[in-house]
Amino acid sequence: MTTKKSTNKYQVKCSMCGQRWELSLTNDQERRLFEYRSKGQVIQEALPDLNPVEREFIKSSWCPECQAEIFGNGETDKIKKVKD
Ligand SMILES: [Zn+2]
Repeated sequence: MTTKKSTNKYQVKCSMCGQRWELSLTNDQERRLFEYRSKGQVIQEALPDLNPVEREFIKSSWCPECQAEIFGNGETDKIKKVKD
C-alpha cells in the first residue's frame, strides 16, 4: 500500500461534441467513482469534493465546453481536453 498522492485520469468522450476529455482524480476519488458506478450511489454523496461541472462530466459525459453552452457554466481546473 502506498500513501503517496498520485493522480489518475478518467477519460470520457463527450456525448455531445465527440471530443475526448480527461478528469484528474486522486486515488481516493477514483475508488469512490468506481463504487459510485458499481453501486449506483448518488453522485453528490460519492464525490462531494468535485464541483458540479466535474460531477456532470461523470454523470452525463458532457464536457466543460458543452456544459458552458447548456448551463452557462463550464468551470473546472481538473478536466482537460485530450490531444490526439
Ligand atoms: Zn463536448
